[in-house]
Amino acid sequence: MIKIRFTFHGGAQEVGRSCINLESNGYSVLLDCGIKLVSEVPEYPRLPGRVDSFILSHAHLDHCGMVPALYKQFPCPLYGTDISFDISHLLQRDSLKITLDKGFAPEYSYDDISLSSMGENPVGYNEEVELNNKFSFKLFDAGHIPGSASVLLDVVENGVSRRVLYTGDIKISDTRLLDAAVVPEADILISESTYGNRVHPDRREMEEKLLVGVEETLDSGGNAVLASFALGRTQELLLILDDLGYPVYLDGMGADLTRLMLQYPYYLRDADALRKAVRNVVWVEHNGMRKQAIREPSIIVSTAGMLTGGPVLYYLKKLGGDANSTVFLTGYQVEGTNGRLLLDEGYILDPRDGRGIKLKMRVEYLDFSAHAGRNSLERMVREINPDKCILVHGNPESCSSLGEFTQGICETFIPEVGSSLEF
Ligand SMILES: [Zn+2]
Ligand SMILES: [Zn+2]
Repeated sequence: MIKIRFTFHGGAQEVGRSCINLESNGYSVLLDCGIKLVSEVPEYPRLPGRVDSFILSHAHLDHCGMVPALYKQFPCPLYGTDISFDISHLLQRDSLKITLDKGFAPEYSYDDISLSSMGENPVGYNEEVELNNKFSFKLFDAGHIPGSASVLLDVVENGVSRRVLYTGDIKISDTRLLDAAVVPEADILISESTYGNRVHPDRREMEEKLLVGVEETLDSGGNAVLASFALGRTQELLLILDDLGYPVYLDGMGADLTRLMLQYPYYLRDADALRKAVRNVVWVEHNGMRKQAIREPSIIVSTAGMLTGGPVLYYLKKLGGDANSTVFLTGYQVEGTNGRLLLDEGYILDPRDGRGIKLKMRVEYLDFSAHAGRNSLERMVREINPDKCILVHGNPESCSSLGEFTQGICETFIPEVGSSLEF
């Protein structure tokens, strides 16, 4: 049988810098090439010695953040959905700006980002792409962010085919913004494990909790500040908050991404609903509008989702002493971020001078995740019923907890960064 060698250059027993190499018969395919942003200095994957084709699962920086550097070294065809490429340029430019502002040496330049678009080949869901006479692949909707994809690679020799499914980041249930993932069958499964040891609360209950919290805050004369990830979460929140009758101010990169997303209605579950929600939005473009936003009871949706920077910090500094206002943390808060610090200790650190800022405003945490929880992952693995399962994109506890389950179904591997498997 044809052998495939898998090498994990990043994203193994960690969340960040996803980068997996598949080699067979001298042909080398790279799946994702991201960066890891948890610590002060970004961490990068070590690139392999050869890449013939590259496939992008989606536009989050932990999957696309190194693509311009990759293309500089290996000017090979890059495959992914059109919207993923478009969003990835925006995020790469923003990430490069932050790296330069902090005074770190970047891995690529603004020109390299533009150059990488020369190699891009947009691919639709379900479209078959032949890489050579042995390798072909299809993308399937992964339900995680607009344009996100799982990659089904087919490796054929002497009429015998082996199908490898890389889930990318996946959400297997509908959200307001996106349809649930479409999951094909496969022989070898490479699955994300972000929530390998955690079950999500009921989505409808979360939405209800958010609406009640926002209304209570506004009724008491305060401001509701929703700290939100720019890509997906912001648009999801706009859909939930539509029709409340209070002004919704949209600040930070979520505004640019909302405009971009509306140019690709095909990827959205209900583009008209988002267009309608956006009609009531006040787009914040300068400090004067920020002052206006907090002058009256209002809803403010702003980046960064984990309070690590961005305009949300302006609002927290101004409203931090107001016990009638509430900050809603609308996604998972990683260890070491301001959001986690606020939940655990009740204060945040000003990134400019490291000064601690104690907040009197209320803090609410709501788990609106774009990843499959443990129960969905179990269901997915059972349905795919693979011969082999490789668990990636999760911390060691998540991977090993999910691995205890998958072992009952198939041979399971939890690789480390830099290690290889061959079968
Ligand atoms: Zn992602
Ligand atoms: Zn990811």
